[in-house]
Amino acid sequence: MSTVYDLTADDIGKRLGAWDEPRYRSKQVWTQLWKRGATYDSMSEIPPALRERLAAELPMGVQVLDERTADRGATRKALLRLGGQHIVEAVLMGYPDRVTVCISSQAGCAMGCTFCATGQMGLQNNLTAGEISAQAVWARREAARLPATTPQRLTNIVFMGMGEPFANQRRVFRSLEQLTDPDTFGIGARHITVSTVGIVPGIERLAEHAPQVGLAVSFHAASDELRDQLVPPNTRYPLAELERAISGWRARTRRRPSIEWALIDGVNDTAGQAELLAPIARRLGAHVNVIPLNPTPGYPVMGSSRSRIRAFVDALEGLRVNVTIRDTRGRSIDAACGQLALSAQATGRA
Ligand code: SAH
Ligand code: SF4
Repeated sequence: MSTVYDLTADDIGKRLGAWDEPRYRSKQVWTQLWKRGATYDSMSEIPPALRERLAAELPMGVQVLDERTADRGATRKALLRLGGQHIVEAVLMGYPDRVTVCISSQAGCAMGCTFCATGQMGLQNNLTAGEISAQAVWARREAARLPATTPQRLTNIVFMGMGEPFANQRRVFRSLEQLTDPDTFGIGARHITVSTVGIVPGIERLAEHAPQVGLAVSFHAASDELRDQLVPPNTRYPLAELERAISGWRARTRRRPSIEWALIDGVNDTAGQAELLAPIARRLGAHVNVIPLNPTPGYPVMGSSRSRIRAFVDALEGLRVNVTIRDTRGRSIDAACGQLALSAQATGRA
């Protein structure tokens, strides 16, 4: 199973050609699908009979199972069924200067990070390239419905939803091509960031094949001892090796990497961890994003308190590290990694 976004322009041209449609039609359909994010029933310039045939023979493969909004409509979260079977979530976040969508690369995840709702589900399926890109298309359509306090158009894409992008590399790289191709989705590569748990070959491939795309690495710990516990892939790609790969990415792309850090009360919000993190962040010229952990059913540990977050951030700043406290957008609608899909599963809706 897949979506219409898994087809090439050539595939669509051939199908429509076989139906004796003129060439300009397939171009029109392609543009409507990718650039406008139109559904078949809203393609007003396509004759109704053709729209029906498209829907029957080339189904879009994107169903919105549930939608929630928060932050006065500035955050919209969708539970999507892609290709008829893969259930994932995508979150659209509107800010005064930008509109960012957080998309998923897998249904579930096999990496097993203990604190993560998606990790607790295990891996269900890899998404196809079109299924990954379809979430950005959904976002492009939805962005128009955001409040007027936002640009009301999609400006950024982050791979921070469900799944580990570099555990589904071939399809993620194909999706990056679709998203950045000016004749397909057409967003600038500099407006895309891939977040990884630290899969070294994936980071190397990103540097080589998509050097304009941004990189965020989920550290959460700055000693192998603690990181082995929180982020199991660390046993395969320990910190020294990870730092080497990020450093290579930086040399190749001349961009500033991000380090993600979910602050877990009493676990990784200590002065000791800040002192271990600081030299790594400085060597990499990295920007550190901290966020208080969102408690999940399988890891009912609290996120750090305001004062502990402050102390951690102050410690890093004192050690000359660039650090930002990330907002906790959409917390009331379970907008943390994987939570909507998990709660939908729990209640049998998915
Ligand atoms: N697999 C990739 C991308 C998806 S996770 C990765 O791990 O980077 C996106 C981000 O959400 C990661 O930084 C991840 O560590 C973080 N995250 C996961 N569970 C969380 C939770 N319960 N609270 C806060 N952040 C969480
Ligand atoms: Fe997978 Fe990322 Fe969650 Fe770890 S944090 S289990 S890599 S989605």
